[in-house]
Amino acid sequence: MSEKITSKIAIELEDKYGAHNYHPLPVVLSRGKGAKVWDAEGKEYYDFLSAYSAVNQGHCHPKIVNALTEQAQKITLTSRAFYNDVLGVYEKFVTEYFGYEKVLPMNSGAEADETALKLARRWGTVKKGIPNDEVMIVCCSGNFHGRTITIITMSDDPDSYANYGPLTPGFIRIPYNDPKALEKVLEKHGKKIAGFLLEPIQGEAGVFVPDEGYLKKCYDLCKKHNVLFIADEVQTGIARTGKLLACDHENVRPDLLILGKAISGGVYPVSAVLADNEVMLTIKPGEHGSTFGGNPIACQVAIAALQVVKEENLAEKAEYLGKIFREEMGKIKSDMIELIRGKGLLNAIVIRPKNGKKAWDVCLKMAENGVLAKPTHEHIIRYAPPLVITEEELRDAIERIKKSILTFE
Ligand SMILES: *Cc1c(COP(=O)(O)O)cnc(C)c1O
Repeated sequence: MSEKITSKIAIELEDKYGAHNYHPLPVVLSRGKGAKVWDAEGKEYYDFLSAYSAVNQGHCHPKIVNALTEQAQKITLTSRAFYNDVLGVYEKFVTEYFGYEKVLPMNSGAEADETALKLARRWGTVKKGIPNDEVMIVCCSGNFHGRTITIITMSDDPDSYANYGPLTPGFIRIPYNDPKALEKVLEKHGKKIAGFLLEPIQGEAGVFVPDEGYLKKCYDLCKKHNVLFIADEVQTGIARTGKLLACDHENVRPDLLILGKAISGGVYPVSAVLADNEVMLTIKPGEHGSTFGGNPIACQVAIAALQVVKEENLAEKAEYLGKIFREEMGKIKSDMIELIRGKGLLNAIVIRPKNGKKAWDVCLKMAENGVLAKPTHEHIIRYAPPLVITEEELRDAIERIKKSILTFE
């Protein structure tokens, strides 16, 4: 390819040859470093999406990229038909890091969610004694757990599930942030419920932060009814919300912990389910797997990415910078800002449309001013920069966001 791919050409190519399952902002990125990215023409932006919180450690972190390139020259994939000399090292590292007895490695977040659902169903039949085919799993309204058929069954967003039927049986959906609803369903069906799956903060729903104490109340209810508490921390985990895990804010230790996205710093698709032996060993050889899951590159990349989180104190940084972000955003005088919410560096503003201008228009204006973010649903903008962003960069970005919003006044 000697021809220079301009932004215009890149967009035309994607439109012509790619499936139309996304509607990107019209920005073509070709380079990234830390909290910043550059488009094909060299224009600089702050990245306030971080690939949906996959790039918490910053773009192209040298330590993580080194782990990738070094391992890529030794061996890339063995499959699990044989052992490799990295997987065990990673498994020891990651289980100690998060405090679990076992890990099951996968690639995407959706696969890890699927794996957790299979583990919960298996535990429900084998350990809890629920008849097979009668096991139920409780999920929450407004959830986002990925795009497989079983996972979209749990969704209440028609964009996710409509015209993909028939869907998967065995789920009960209850309102989010409503411990009473969980109590009710557990009292009625508890004997047949294997697990309760939730996001500690709902990211795709628009950074919906539940009331303080919600996670702990749900956890206690699950324990009372012998139901697994399953946390999808694919987006909230790995320091994003100001703690290593969002569940740490309430000192809740999930029975099944689902991780993805930033577990690799956005360098490689890596996901994982963590659990203790009582749950994890209910799946025996040949009963679940993945060709790429636990491959040597993924393992080296994840070790490096998780080390960076501790070495650079990213959880503390997210906590500190998040307070500044919400405080400074709160000072912007615009009636387009209906609400600012979030935890750590996972934040959102709810946009009140003005003169027909919506969140999408605000995002276009921000891009013009050098800050990239994308609406989630029609009226919410999520702000989630890489956690390596400096205070100076953050304040500069906030000025640009402010300027963008005020152009609509
Ligand atoms: C992104 C996300 C997923 C799905 O991850 P993929 O890697 O896109 O399959 C699952 N759960 C949550 C909470 C997410 O944010």
